[in-house]
Amino acid sequence: MIKLHDTYFKPFISAEKIDAAVQKMVLDIANDLKDEIPVFIGILNGSFMFVSDFVKAYPKPCEVTFIKLASYEGVKSSEDIKRLIGLTQDLTDRTVVILEDIIDSGNTLEEVHRIFKNKNVKDLIIATLFYKPEAYKKDFKMHYVGIEISNKFIVGYGLDYDGLGRDLPEVYQIKTTQHMTNLVLFGPPGAGKGTQANFLKERYNLEHISTGDVFRFNIKNETALGMLAKSYMDKGELVPDQVTIDMLNAEVEKNADANGFIFDGFPRTDAQAKALDELMETKDSSINAMIALEVDDDVLVERLLERGKTSGRPDDADESIIRNRIKEYYTKTAILKDYYSKQDKYFGVDGIGSIENITVRLSKVIDAL
Ligand code: AMP
Repeated sequence: MIKLHDTYFKPFISAEKIDAAVQKMVLDIANDLKDEIPVFIGILNGSFMFVSDFVKAYPKPCEVTFIKLASYEGVKSSEDIKRLIGLTQDLTDRTVVILEDIIDSGNTLEEVHRIFKNKNVKDLIIATLFYKPEAYKKDFKMHYVGIEISNKFIVGYGLDYDGLGRDLPEVYQIKTTQHMTNLVLFGPPGAGKGTQANFLKERYNLEHISTGDVFRFNIKNETALGMLAKSYMDKGELVPDQVTIDMLNAEVEKNADANGFIFDGFPRTDAQAKALDELMETKDSSINAMIALEVDDDVLVERLLERGKTSGRPDDADESIIRNRIKEYYTKTAILKDYYSKQDKYFGVDGIGSIENITVRLSKVIDAL
C-alpha cells in the first residue's frame, strides 16, 4: 500500500501486466498498419510512460510527438473548451495514432476529434492503455484498448494524484475503505500482552482481539468450539490452526467498522500469519507491525504462577503446563519473528519493568509507525 498526500492506494495492476498489454497493442497496431509510417501522438502529461514503452517496442519506422490540452484560463470547467499546445507539424494525409494513457468520460477524446477535424489526416486512430467502460459517455470509436478497468481512481505509470505518483512503474487503485492500524502484540505467555493491550486499545482506539480470551469465553459458555479448544488448552498445546483461524476471521468480521486491531495471541503459527495477511488484504489493509514483549523464561514462570493464584485459569496453575506453553511458543510461534522481520515489521520491546514504563515503550514504537 502507498500513501500520496493524505490518500491511500493499493496495488492494482503490476508492471508485468502493463508490459504485456503494451506489447500486445504494439503487435496489433504494427500488424494492422502494415508499411504505413504512422505518427504516434501522446497526450501529455499522463501518456509519457506509455508512449515511451510503446515506441521502444514498435518494430517499424514511426514518428512520435506529444500534444497537451490546456484549459483556457477563467473558463468554468463545465464549459471547458480546451486549447491545444504542441502540434506544429503538417499532418495532411498522415495516419495518426493517438496514444492515450486512460479514457474515462471521453471528454478529452471529444476534444481530440474536434482538434483533428481540420487537419486533413488520412486516418485518426485511437489507442488507449486503460479504459473505464462504466465511465465512458461518448460514442467515439476506440480502435485499440489495452486493459479495461472499473470506474475507480488510479495512479501510477504516468497517471497522477494531484501531482504525485506519475513515476510509479505499476498502477495503484484508490482505497475506498478507511485506513486501519493493525498491530500484532507478540511475546511468550506471561509477557504482559493482555495487560498492555488494554491500555493501547484505549489510547489508539483499536479493537483488542485475544484468541485466548475468546476460547475461554467459549469454554465458559460450553460451546462446541469451547469444548474442542479446552482439550488442547488444558495441556498447554495450541488449538489447531483452522479452528483458530475461522474463529479469528469471525471476530474481525464482528468489528467491521474498527479503526484497526490489536491481535493478542494471534498469529501463533506460520499458517495463521498467512491467513491474517489474507484477511487484512480483503479489508484493503495490512499488518503494520508486530511488537514483541521480550521477557526471560524464569520471570515468565514466576509471573504466571503468581497470576494463577487469582486468574482461575487452569493453565496458569501448574508449572509443567506453563513450561509446555512456553515450549510451544519457542517451537511454533517464535519463528514468526522472522516472518515479520523480513517485512521490516518486527519491533522488540523490553517487557521487564513497571506496567506504565512498558506502555510508554510500546507507544513510542506505535507513534513512530
Ligand atoms: P493465551 O491466553 O494467549 O495464553 O492462550 C491460552 C491458550 O489458548 C493457548 O495455550 C492455546 O491453547 C490457545 N490459543 C490461544 N491463541 C491461540 C492461537 N492463535 N493458536 C492456537 N491456540 C491458541
